[in-house]
Amino acid sequence: MSSTENADRATDTARAAHAPRTADAPRTVVNGGISFWYAQDGLPAPREPLPGDASADVVIVGGGYTGLWTAYYLKKAAPFLRITVLEQRFCGYGASGRNGGWLYNGIAGRDRYARLHGHEAAVRLQEAMNATVAEVVRVTEEEHIDADVHRGGVLEVAYTPAQLARLKAFHETELSYGEKDRELYGARETAERIRVADAVGSTWTPHGARLHPVKLLKGLAAAVEALGVTIHESTPVTEIRPKHAVTPYGTVRAPYVLRCTEGFTASLKGQRRTWLPMNSSMIATEPLTAEQWESVGWEGRETLGDMAHAYMYAQRTADGRIALGGRGVPYRFGSRTDNDGRTQASTVRALREILVRFFPQLSSVAVAHAWSGVLGVPRDWCATVTLDRSTGLGWAGGYVGSGVATANLAARTLRDLIQRDSGQSGATDLITLPWVEHKVRKWEPEPFRWLGVHGMYATYRAADRRELTTHAAQSSRIARIADRVAGR
Ligand SMILES: Cc1cc2nc3c(=O)[nH]c(=O)nc-3n(C[C@H](O)[C@H](O)[C@H](O)COP(=O)(O)OP(=O)(O)OC[C@H]3O[C@@H](n4cnc5c(N)ncnc54)[C@H](O)[C@@H]3O)c2cc1C
Repeated sequence: MSSTENADRATDTARAAHAPRTADAPRTVVNGGISFWYAQDGLPAPREPLPGDASADVVIVGGGYTGLWTAYYLKKAAPFLRITVLEQRFCGYGASGRNGGWLYNGIAGRDRYARLHGHEAAVRLQEAMNATVAEVVRVTEEEHIDADVHRGGVLEVAYTPAQLARLKAFHETELSYGEKDRELYGARETAERIRVADAVGSTWTPHGARLHPVKLLKGLAAAVEALGVTIHESTPVTEIRPKHAVTPYGTVRAPYVLRCTEGFTASLKGQRRTWLPMNSSMIATEPLTAEQWESVGWEGRETLGDMAHAYMYAQRTADGRIALGGRGVPYRFGSRTDNDGRTQASTVRALREILVRFFPQLSSVAVAHAWSGVLGVPRDWCATVTLDRSTGLGWAGGYVGSGVATANLAARTLRDLIQRDSGQSGATDLITLPWVEHKVRKWEPEPFRWLGVHGMYATYRAADRRELTTHAAQSSRIARIADRVAGR
């Protein structure tokens, strides 16, 4: 075991030992098993691996939302295309089967794109994201995918003066990107929607919906197969090069090879420092009783977030639980990923403390399941979608924590890029958006990558603690420094 792994574990144990016991100790918690969503909905029946060398018109590496949405839209646009999806484990093994089910209009990097390409270009990007939320809901209806979608919008709360200052600034920024229906609430209006302890304000947008990530994923995979796309599972791609996707069972040759591997990208040859696999972890409670829901409110079933530097995200599930996520241990040395979703004991404890901090009246509610997954983080924290016309290689991702909707926009953009390149259509609005063909430098080699990311999150947590204890009216200066060092 490396010294940094030891450091990870030691920090874990120490934090767990010193964590204030604000809540009852959790009863038996299922940890891992990919995610709670699979425990609830069942693992999918396996699909056949690649039987040997093959050819296709388009080969897609990765069976998450990005890969499957891309297959979906390409096949719809050009039914004659032979499309093959290669998935290392099973479709939805990655973040698409583990996320918080926030289908919302946020996109990583918008503000930087505004600086690089002008405000108008970023407004168009934002409008495309707003429309993407509606597009995902539309397709679920058209394809009869029952994904527990509830269009309650997104509610983000502040519970310290510094968070309130950030909330107001955030609200103004969103209005400046053309969001007309966003609302700002004070403490009383917030409490009418949801009883979050000490909440001093909130902002709400209608451009969001709660959904069940795995039900969406499974429905999408079935829709893609019904259209005639070939999916091979248990087929890891070891190398991508122009016109080739290489696996241990054979090579698939195709004019277009699309990399849709997000947080797992570092495991591909030549991609070790492209996107950093950042952990995000979640817990799901046992179902709440009617009285407990009465004490919480949350009848609008908005997806719920906060304005902390190390922020949380949550949803009220269709079967009456709270599923809540946050950062936990942010990154594993050497860009390693978790073992089938298992997360650290200290992270489970920290997430439970956030739950009880938000809703002290739920201190007796047990956590049923905990899990984690990886997101893809580019060095400049900007999502991108690209087709290199000289090689036929394409990729989309780097969504940071906002990929549920963004993957759909990326997929439609990849469709348009391929259709233009193959002469089936001309330029479209989507391919002129500022995130298309954005280039970014690689992450630093280890140990600088590990030190930088752990340092940044330690700083954010310290800033959150400081804002809670001092009740300062403005954001802590150390968090601003961390932002700058991180390149956000
Ligand atoms: C815990 C958690 C909570 C999140 N919550 C939200 C949320 O509420 N809202 C939101 O917008 N975003 C959220 N995200 C982010 C969002 O889930 C992702 O951005 C999105 O699912 C990315 O989809 P993807 O298809 O690009 O990647 P993934 O879903 O990770 O899919 C990549 C696929 O590629 C496969 N693969 C990787 N390497 C290879 C290879 N070499 N060969 C073959 N196959 C390979 C993997 O097995 C995987 O199935 C969350 C992420 C996590 C981890």
